Amino acid sequence: MADVATRLELHETEVIDLAAYRPGDNKAAILMVDDRPENLIALEAILEPLGERLVRASSGNEALRHLLRQDFAVILLDAQMPDLDGYETASLIRQRERTRHVPIMFISALNKDRDHVFQGYSVGAVDYIPKPFNPEILRSKVKVFVELFKKNEQIKEQARLLHESEMREAERSRTEMAEALEREHMRALNEELEKRVLERTTELTEANKQLESFCYSVSHDLRTPLRGIIATSKMLMEDLGGNLKGEELQMLLDQEVAAKRLATLIDDLLQFSRLSMKELERSSVNITEVSREVSQQLLAEPWPCPLSIFVEDGMTAECDPLLLRILLQNLLENACKYSPEGGEIRVGRTEGAVFVRDEGIGFDMTYAHKIFLPFERLVHDHQYPGTGIGLANAHKIIHRHGGRIWAESIPGKGSTFYFNLG
Ligand code: ADP
Repeated sequence: MADVATRLELHETEVIDLAAYRPGDNKAAILMVDDRPENLIALEAILEPLGERLVRASSGNEALRHLLRQDFAVILLDAQMPDLDGYETASLIRQRERTRHVPIMFISALNKDRDHVFQGYSVGAVDYIPKPFNPEILRSKVKVFVELFKKNEQIKEQARLLHESEMREAERSRTEMAEALEREHMRALNEELEKRVLERTTELTEANKQLESFCYSVSHDLRTPLRGIIATSKMLMEDLGGNLKGEELQMLLDQEVAAKRLATLIDDLLQFSRLSMKELERSSVNITEVSREVSQQLLAEPWPCPLSIFVEDGMTAECDPLLLRILLQNLLENACKYSPEGGEIRVGRTEGAVFVRDEGIGFDMTYAHKIFLPFERLVHDHQYPGTGIGLANAHKIIHRHGGRIWAESIPGKGSTFYFNLG
């Protein structure tokens, strides 16, 4: 028996696991084991009406091989067989985990005595049917086992489905939890980032303020000696002008011009610094009125050629009145400075923005981003004097209002500066 068991264990590795019953096909397998073919045929005729799958085995070994390959609802086992008899076969079936609980019905022609019956039960038979037997009774008994098996399989299938849905549910909550963690992680990261940006912005704003107040005090301190130089040059010119040689006179004139230019630069720089320090005070401002006032002042100045300025009616905005005046002053002054003889300048409104348009020299749009930076100039000083601060001031004013300023230009045709005030 041990040999057979060993042989069986070896066969275990070759198992092709075909379950006898699948909920889909609704058929259970019944294994009939008998060394006599006529007995197998007779059994088959009795069990046929059950409509299940009948599997024949003509020896104990063949039965074991079938059991390795598939599950059975019940085994009908002939007790008397050559080689491996029914009892040995039953005992091997019971040794194997997978087949341990398959019901075995012994069918025996000879051994009706109690010993054989007991032997059958001791190796795990669930029934012992002596021959001759009543086919009806045999069929009913087998039917009971088949139904039991089917119920059992259904329960197994439901348990499998339940397990699967539990697994899916677990996977879903795992994914949800991972997503929630990820969201939390991102939120914490964002918070940290925002905190750092805020810290950095505060540091930079502070540094900027310090720099601007430094610039302010330096400009302020430079103003006094510069005024002295301009005044001295003027006095010298008045007192000695007539006695000076040509070259000396020119040097004195150059000195006065340079000092005046430096004074303008310092004034512009002071204004640049003040713009950042000044508190923003918004109120309703009449842009049309301010533009006309600024235009009048500008047209009163001695420009190289006559100009005209047209301002659209009814333009208003919520903004700082003083800063708006400085802004318009810068834009209109540039428009005048860069306009040709008889040039027309217009202040108007379009799609939520105010514009200042001229017919002047214009500029190459490649450099449009540069002109709003301090000291960036696209023209030569001797032709168009300036400090390069005007548009930087304009940009700062707009920035403080949370608005936007931009320009469009065609060289030789004119420029339009647009702004809105947030
Ligand atoms: P500034 O006029 O004193 O040079 P701005 O900061 O006002 O300084 O302007 C910077 C530069 O932008 C100018 O030097 C000029 O090249 C260009 N620019 C500004 N306004 C105009 C304009 N209306 N038409 C043509 N170029 C302009």
